[in-house]
Amino acid sequence: MGDKKMHCTSCGEKISDKAEICPKCGVRQFREKSFCATCGTGLKPNQEMCVQCGTSVKQTGTASNSGGLEPWVAGLISFLVTGLGQMIMGQGKKGALILVGSMILGAITFGASIFVTTPIAIIDAFLIGKKKKAGIPVGEWEFF
Ligand SMILES: [Zn+2]
Ligand SMILES: [Zn+2]
Repeated sequence: MGDKKMHCTSCGEKISDKAEICPKCGVRQFREKSFCATCGTGLKPNQEMCVQCGTSVKQTGTASNSGGLEPWVAGLISFLVTGLGQMIMGQGKKGALILVGSMILGAITFGASIFVTTPIAIIDAFLIGKKKKAGIPVGEWEFF
């Protein structure tokens, strides 16, 4: 028995049904649902069933894609590496600034400043994580 074929749900190309990521367009299957996996018919964004072949379009909880990280995990990561929790949540520049800033302050104060910068980074990562999880859009430079 050879590989079964399915259609890429992003570009509609025929691919192996074992492929997690389409070799043609590089999109993870069922993340985007522009095409029916069974017959390759184009789908509308909110379509839940393919009208051509009757296959139900798999729902994969795309709503919380950006907020996949638990707030306390983000806080914990920022406890281990100041600012890393923010970076993981997509606030790359802000996280880097916190990391560099806390290192500079740490060097100036012989490490005493970590008692201030680390709790702030943890609380900030936790609160930003909470907003993201609730689906509230968070700006790249938004604090708390
Ligand atoms: Zn594709
Ligand atoms: Zn179909």
